[in-house]
Amino acid sequence: MSQLSEKIANNVAAIRERIVDAAKRSGRNADEVTLVAITKYVGLEETKALIDAGCLQLGESRPQSLWEKADAFSDNSVHWHLIGHLQTNKIKRTLPLISTLHSGDRIKLLKALNKEAESANLSTPSLPIYLEVNISGDTEKHGFQPDDLEKLLPEIANFHSLQVIGLMGMAARQGGIEIARKNFESLRLLRDRLLTNLPENVDLSQLSMGMSGDFEVAIEEGSTAVRIGSSLFEGCS
Ligand SMILES: *Cc1c(COP(=O)(O)O)cnc(C)c1O
Repeated sequence: MSQLSEKIANNVAAIRERIVDAAKRSGRNADEVTLVAITKYVGLEETKALIDAGCLQLGESRPQSLWEKADAFSDNSVHWHLIGHLQTNKIKRTLPLISTLHSGDRIKLLKALNKEAESANLSTPSLPIYLEVNISGDTEKHGFQPDDLEKLLPEIANFHSLQVIGLMGMAARQGGIEIARKNFESLRLLRDRLLTNLPENVDLSQLSMGMSGDFEVAIEEGSTAVRIGSSLFEGCS
């Protein structure tokens, strides 16, 4: 094993251990938490090392980078997640490559995705998708406003080729871990509120929240998918 592969395998093992500990602390089962390994900072060599270390759920934030990596690693066991903003003119090329979209951040996108999914011959009949919510109030962040979602859900439920599986959110850039906890808690509470009046065919059981700096509190607040990049590559450059 190369030094790089060994380092990355060790980092993956350490992160998995921290996921298990955080789940235990909050009385949860670590099996409920999916590790999505984010490859946006690295190239093909590091991505290969992640796959070899057992990370088969991989994520990119830029469509172009996802195209490149998905092309290089097209093995059926590898699943690609898009976690960043998707322009509608990139849907056609992106849709066949991804297994999950974490950044369903506006009606216009959902509508266009639904239309494309209807006409395309995809391996999965409907695209699993998280509705991204701007929980931090950071103005430069994408996503639905928390207060707007309830009245938009019936419209979203009509996009039959999309399979809404949950909500995604990011903590405030500035603010530290306790603010992050509050942000994640607010996403979970929003989800719980929406559950009381949920249209058929919308599922909000999953919560995509938590990155390298805050995934442990995200798990304590109910995350079912953590998106971790930089911590997996510590000591690699
Ligand atoms: C980059 C990114 C991550 C991973 O961030 P790290 O802090 O490197 O773990 C997670 N989610 C989104 C949406 C990102 O853009």
